[in-house]
Amino acid sequence: MHSGINRILINYGEIALKGRNYSRFKSRLLNNVRHRLTRAGIDWRVASHHDRVFVEVPEGTAQEMLEQALAAAAEVPGTVWITPVAWRGTEQLYPDGAAPDCALIESLVLAEGQARQPARSDESFAIRVNRADKRFPVRTTTLERQLGTAIIHQGKWQRVNLDAPEQIFAVDIYPEGVYVRSERRRGPGGLPVGSAGHVTSLLSGGIDSPVASWLLARRGCSMDFVHFTAHRVSEQDIDENKVVGLARHLSRYSLRSRLYLVPYVHFDAALMTRPASYELMLFRRFMARTAEQLALRSGAGALVTGDSLGQVASQTLENIATHSSSVSMPVLRPLIGLDKQEIVTLARRIGTYEASIEPYKDCCALISRNPRTRSHHGTLSRIERRVFPDYAGLIEASLADALCVELDSGEVVSVKEMPGDSLDNGAGA
Ligand code: ATP
Ligand code: MG
Repeated sequence: MHSGINRILINYGEIALKGRNYSRFKSRLLNNVRHRLTRAGIDWRVASHHDRVFVEVPEGTAQEMLEQALAAAAEVPGTVWITPVAWRGTEQLYPDGAAPDCALIESLVLAEGQARQPARSDESFAIRVNRADKRFPVRTTTLERQLGTAIIHQGKWQRVNLDAPEQIFAVDIYPEGVYVRSERRRGPGGLPVGSAGHVTSLLSGGIDSPVASWLLARRGCSMDFVHFTAHRVSEQDIDENKVVGLARHLSRYSLRSRLYLVPYVHFDAALMTRPASYELMLFRRFMARTAEQLALRSGAGALVTGDSLGQVASQTLENIATHSSSVSMPVLRPLIGLDKQEIVTLARRIGTYEASIEPYKDCCALISRNPRTRSHHGTLSRIERRVFPDYAGLIEASLADALCVELDSGEVVSVKEMPGDSLDNGAGA
């Protein structure tokens, strides 16, 4: 049993600083939370009252369902903390209109005390009362002492530690009522998806690019993913595909996203007949340009990659410059200044690390050969004119072989052959 939990409070941080755009950001957050829950089969009311966004938990909800809702809400960008609370309105707190019903508060705290299992018998606790509504006539310390004694009498929690408790039972008294809570979970923070435009993210099967994508989702970008494959991917192989799995996972945060699986067989074939040096950078420029075409068709304003300065040969300052100059669109590289260990820590937090380190069957012989750490736009452009005389045709031929996987909130919604020129911007929240 989950005690008297009847609301999930959603704390947002930066949105509150948005001045005149505040309500637009807040309603975007509300919609995204609602959407994410609905996709998980949870149809609860999501509402806001003054500065509080909350989800109403129906009476009699099973613990498992509550857990699911908490986990889903904790993945919505824009949320900083997710807190299950037992809430009672002012009319219940002041049943006769004058004196507060402290026995009601006590029963809510005891229900939480009962629901929380101490890991050890001597695990410490504290009661924290926050009397934000100064009209509440009982002093904070008096109430804390009364509630602490009640918890001890209940028998589960014995050791009080006011300075560094392992478990906090908090009572927040606001003008609109009383909130009792005993846990809170961290959300991604940032801004709600859809509030900062649309981007196209180049997703490899590695550790870095999923983290880069997540960072942009957390800054409020809706996104599509592009992944380049050595072979054409068929619809039957979708469920087994590592990158589909990664993109699916990322869509728990990015909500509605598409993944384009683009084979680079035409690029490979051209290079085979006219071998050239700088293959790796030629390949990276091909990926950027093809992704840019997709981005233009879906209304994206930038590309995203998982580059981190100096990590590998293709990510030296010179090579990053020649990569960028192959396209007109800005290329966002949110990992540029991070160390590998920091990226790994984020990947674990996001939940992509395990999938990223799985072996990947779609082997990439081309990009492992003889990488150069320096390149120049002029040199590469000359080589490109020789090797790929019809670059636009190369891109079109590659896109014609692509597969488009529609994702939403962690699930594959549909798999389609490429819709040609009719790509519209259906993505984004
Ligand atoms: P990652 O860890 O993200 O796989 P990486 O360390 O393997 O990257 P590179 O292969 O140089 O580094 O790729 C740099 C970036 O280029 C990736 O983060 C990704 O954004 C993009 N990229 C690389 N390979 C592909 C691919 N096959 N499809 C789409 N994007 C790719
Ligand atoms: Mg990398």
